[in-house]
Amino acid sequence: MKAPAKSSGLSSPAVSTPEARAVADPGREPGERDRLDLFALLAEHEHEQVSLYYDPSTGYRGIIAIHSTVLGPALGGTRFWSYPSDEAALIDCLRLARGMTYKAAVAGLNLGGGKSVIIGDNSTARREALFRAHGRHVESLKGRYITAEDVGTSTSDMEYIKAETNHVTGLIGRSGDPSPVTAYGVYRGIKACARYRYDSDSLAGKAVALQGCGSVGYHLAKLLFAEGADITCTDIDPRRVKRVVEECGAKAVASDAIYDVRANIFAPCALGAVINDDTVQRLQVEIVAGAANNQLAEDRHGDLLERRGITYAPDYVINGGGLINVNAELHGWAPERARSKAGEIYDTLLRVFEIAREERVPSYQAADRLAEQRIASIAQVRRNFV
Ligand code: NAD
Repeated sequence: MKAPAKSSGLSSPAVSTPEARAVADPGREPGERDRLDLFALLAEHEHEQVSLYYDPSTGYRGIIAIHSTVLGPALGGTRFWSYPSDEAALIDCLRLARGMTYKAAVAGLNLGGGKSVIIGDNSTARREALFRAHGRHVESLKGRYITAEDVGTSTSDMEYIKAETNHVTGLIGRSGDPSPVTAYGVYRGIKACARYRYDSDSLAGKAVALQGCGSVGYHLAKLLFAEGADITCTDIDPRRVKRVVEECGAKAVASDAIYDVRANIFAPCALGAVINDDTVQRLQVEIVAGAANNQLAEDRHGDLLERRGITYAPDYVINGGGLINVNAELHGWAPERARSKAGEIYDTLLRVFEIAREERVPSYQAADRLAEQRIASIAQVRRNFV
């Protein structure tokens, strides 16, 4: 039962990992109960803590997983999802919590990694008591875990949580839509890729194939256009395509055709798992760099990109702007400070590529090493009683 660290974000799509599904039915005898070796599961990726909480009055069933608090309190959103089994929920929670540790570590934030899941139908209208029960669960950890929005939860749900605990971010009227900051970080990351690849970070005249013209994709298109990039875009929502075509002089293509566009850069800003067995062979680009979470269907697709000579900006490094925005809310930073911190993604990515070259590993592995180095070095300096 492996819970691999895949990049995760505060708005990543819900996935039940293959590993999660395997736990639900590992070829056992009919009628035999699942055997879950809980501590082995935690030990495998060194998770610190799992908390389960059940509230009979609301039917609330929640899990909070804390992967690491070495760098600071564990931050990660609350996912509200109907999982096929409790084990699947737990494994998703563990996997996402670990992803948050890595994302915060490479973003240079003093935050650890955690995540929570509420098991159930996220379309329910009966939310106040449920989310207040979750708030009490969060409060019971006394600040070791801080929550925020994720799939199936909204800013108004965070307000219910706030009635029971202060350890919640993403509140109404606070840091607001993170997409502009995320897009700016992605833009700086694309420039770093260009720097690495072409020895110049200018994007003037560079051809960019943009998948997804939503919140991040739109803001990214504006930045790319302002620098003179030549954009080809797609989205399943024609109104969103129209906006980018009209405001950024982009060409539009059908959704599936985006993988065949001959361009310098492919910028996935829609869905996860878009680098897969099919698309990895079709791409006619030199760089893959975009906002989407979990871009690699499996790690081996990162190896395949490497083998094809395509520079890949690891997703959780380049899309760290959203987390930086949440961190800004926690610490009361001015918007300019959040933007400037997101701009540092440029240097972080160059460091990732340097590690990849020195250690002869694909960039997605180099990113993990960078995160692990920071966590290990800070753990070292915090050993002593002060
Ligand atoms: P969004 O929902 O605003 O935009 C996504 C867009 O993708 C939508 O316009 C949707 O119509 C389009 N889309 C969906 N399926 C598509 C397909 N098959 N082909 C083409 N387009 C398709 O979401 P967003 O906030 O812009 O986030 C985009 C991605 O970036 C997501 O993967 C998200 O998890 C990730 N991300 C976002 C943030 C943030 O701050 N918003 C932060 C980190 C990561």
